[in-house]
Amino acid sequence: MDRRRFAQLSALALANMHVRASGQSSDSSTSANRRVGIAAVGLGSIAEVFMHAVSSAPNAQITGLVTGHPATKGVKFGALYNVPGNSIYTYETFDRLRDNPAIDAVYIALPNSMHCEYTIRAAEAGKHVLCEKPMAISSAECRRMIDACRRANVKLMIGYRIHYDATFRKLRELVRAGALGEIQSYQGGFYGMRNKQQWRLDRSLAGGGSLLDLGIYPLNAMRWFTSEEPEFCRGLVATRDKSGAFASVEQSIDWMVKFPSGILGSGGSSYAQSGTNFLAINGTTGHLRLEPAFVYGDVILKYTGTAGDADLSGAGPVNDPDQFVSEATHFADCVLHNSQPSTPGEEGLADLLAIEAIYAAAGSPIA
Ligand code: NAD
Repeated sequence: MDRRRFAQLSALALANMHVRASGQSSDSSTSANRRVGIAAVGLGSIAEVFMHAVSSAPNAQITGLVTGHPATKGVKFGALYNVPGNSIYTYETFDRLRDNPAIDAVYIALPNSMHCEYTIRAAEAGKHVLCEKPMAISSAECRRMIDACRRANVKLMIGYRIHYDATFRKLRELVRAGALGEIQSYQGGFYGMRNKQQWRLDRSLAGGGSLLDLGIYPLNAMRWFTSEEPEFCRGLVATRDKSGAFASVEQSIDWMVKFPSGILGSGGSSYAQSGTNFLAINGTTGHLRLEPAFVYGDVILKYTGTAGDADLSGAGPVNDPDQFVSEATHFADCVLHNSQPSTPGEEGLADLLAIEAIYAAAGSPIA
């Protein structure tokens, strides 16, 4: 493929993105200036990043907080985001969200095994839900969450931030438009992140090890790029650390999947390995490699590759737009215009089904 053809494909991909993005909204003068009020649930490290991003979103604001530490974290973040004291809740008073009209939705950033309970309680309180990945610790929980939100007629979106990243979206469109020929395989990995919080090593809170936390990124990217669900799943887990720290979750995991089209996917993740995070794609006439691919913050997504004779190298902008801002804006837009999120509960369920199959193949079943 020559450069002109590549430029045409890029323009096509961007045009498609524009059409889809504008197609998600409907004109609504009543909601044009309204901001969706969101309560953050669990004020840990990712909630802090998300709340900061919401302050840059044009259609959302933080209007509530749910924390086990109202006198410290509640006061601190309440002051930062202008949340009044009567909109700061604990896990015990969570259900009173129902009586607060300033809170339209919740953002759930709790340990994985708590996502299901708080999603269902939020739905029953009539609040829309943006839940962090992994959606839950089993497919059965995911189904309960989807049912509860459907029954309550509230939105359920899972925080797959790379779906809202302009570079990822552009490259996905290129791959799907045939720029690399017929795709044969994907490889991906997420390494270099040392475990920080103890709950991640406790199976009752985390549900599993690095696959649920980190490996879910390349797995989800492969499912998203192919629009296929894995037909065959294989996995191997290993823990070299014999201190007992990894008594209930794996330290490292490698997996392979095969999609119905015949595309192969392989990936890995670990809480102990130095390394980077990447997604590689091999087609019959071209290849692409994004690295770094899955981290956030002040990083540039970089990609290298070829499409026939054309060079595909490039990089995304730094934080412009920030993935979390785009994600929050999309969620609020879905609430305001009653449209379906691009990453609904069904997307989280599909990941959990694949993860369960990988863990089962590795002899280390979850939940
Ligand atoms: P964290 O440990 O920093 O925060 C967890 C919060 O939950 C804390 O405020 C903690 O006080 C609270 N909590 C309530 N009950 C708890 C309990 N029983 N045990 C432990 N903590 C409890 O974790 P985090 O890194 O913010 O992760 C939270 C969720 O966000 C996880 O599901 C994780 O997978 C997800 N996450 C997503 C991204 C992303 O880029 N989208 C990045 C990091 C984490």
